[in-house]
Amino acid sequence: MSEPFDRTTEIYGIYVLPTYAPKQLFVRGKGARLWDDDGAEYLDFAAGIAVCNLGHCNERVAEAIAAQARTLVHTSNLYYNPVMPRLAQKLVESAGFPGRVFFCNSGAEANEGMIKLARKYGNATGRNVIVSMENSFHGRTLATLAATGRAKYRKGFEPETPGFVQVPFNDFATLEKAITPQVCAVMLEMVQGEGGILPADPEYLRKVRALCDERDVLMLSDEVQCGMGRIGTRFAFQSFGVVPDALSMAKAIANGVPMGGFLVREKYAGVLTLGSHASTFGGTPLACAAALAVQEAFDRDGVLENCREQGAFLMEKLSGIAAGFPFVREVRGKGLMIGIVLDRPAGALQSILLKHRLVTLTAGETVLRLVPPLVIDRADAEEAVRIIAGGLQEFAAEIKENER
Ligand SMILES: *Cc1c(COP(=O)(O)O)cnc(C)c1O
Repeated sequence: MSEPFDRTTEIYGIYVLPTYAPKQLFVRGKGARLWDDDGAEYLDFAAGIAVCNLGHCNERVAEAIAAQARTLVHTSNLYYNPVMPRLAQKLVESAGFPGRVFFCNSGAEANEGMIKLARKYGNATGRNVIVSMENSFHGRTLATLAATGRAKYRKGFEPETPGFVQVPFNDFATLEKAITPQVCAVMLEMVQGEGGILPADPEYLRKVRALCDERDVLMLSDEVQCGMGRIGTRFAFQSFGVVPDALSMAKAIANGVPMGGFLVREKYAGVLTLGSHASTFGGTPLACAAALAVQEAFDRDGVLENCREQGAFLMEKLSGIAAGFPFVREVRGKGLMIGIVLDRPAGALQSILLKHRLVTLTAGETVLRLVPPLVIDRADAEEAVRIIAGGLQEFAAEIKENER
């Protein structure tokens, strides 16, 4: 490895808390391509972690950031800035129902805000329990951890934040039983991301919506990963035709500039009153300018159509290839949020693909996750299919070798 790689990893190893174990150094990106310090080119089917939906260093987003950086970076929420309300308007109009937005800086923070909304609403009638889903992921802050349906992330951080219960995803009967008189909200991802790229059953979502209406319980949609065009519609709920009472956004909202937010139906816009919630950086002009550029690209550049088209192509090709490998259970997902589900840990396959210069992610233990920029073209998709086909073959040989 090169000198910059050695030097970087050495410094990292001494000064950075060891909560991650990165293996690769990237120094430059453009579109769906990344380059390492040796100048080697990679096809990026991770986009950060489903963040750079318009590709790396999108020209218009870069211009918007640069122009705003020279005009006004930050003033706090104690003053109006011209960009933030326009972004809120754009998001609400795109959602297609009357509502309002609160801006913050990450997915966990966006979900914290939704949780606070639900508790404030519920506490007025003596209810403060939130039902979330097993295998869900909502963030790493203490409340979002409590909502996250994976006990291993909470281990060691006790005491657990009270007021959360989890039920199996896509199981309406169990959810219905869990809606006790103490429950104020149901929180879910319409396509579970970290848990393994698992889409909700549309019929299930319709029933959840009806149940929430019947019991005066808020339906909270965590769209941090599956929103912002990822599954082929600007908001995830638009793919399912089920409107939540609030939804959270982050990851791709500003194509890599840290930002989050949550959108609340007008009916509940009065719950978080003056002074009841705040964020120093939330809605800062710099991030809002980047996010507006993302929205404009959705309007203008056929990004969502391309996502659906390339997603369908990948799904068909990968399903076909997967059929030849008994250790592949299924290929599932929606739009450009695709999981190749294995019967064993997916990390080894991910490493093989990286060796062949395709950057991917895992989800859960056994799912290889593909979340490329939404702007990949057919040639990119074909290249990925070719590398994955070869990678699966190599993985099969490795498995055979190990079994001898
Ligand atoms: C990534 C993610 C989060 C957490 O977002 P951060 O920006 O890392 O805090 C929350 N919910 C879902 C569904 C996510 O994928």
